[in-house]
Amino acid sequence: MKYICLTCSEVESIPLNVVQDFDRMDQGDPAVPPQFTCESCEGAMYPEYYKGIYGCEYRISDRLENKEVEGSSK
Ligand SMILES: [Zn+2]
Repeated sequence: MKYICLTCSEVESIPLNVVQDFDRMDQGDPAVPPQFTCESCEGAMYPEYYKGIYGCEYRISDRLENKEVEGSSK
């Protein structure tokens, strides 16, 4: 599956089973997908699309929309 850097848009392919292993070990906030760090800029990477082992779905488009909302004064 694809992870995309939120900072520099670098795309990295990470095997689904690796992501699921991270998900299983991660006892934190279910609203946050397993996180990886960009090798180019050390920024946060977000999955293009990932359905978590507990049924949560994550889309980078959702994250990017949220970012835009934060940036506006609305
Ligand atoms: Zn990056």
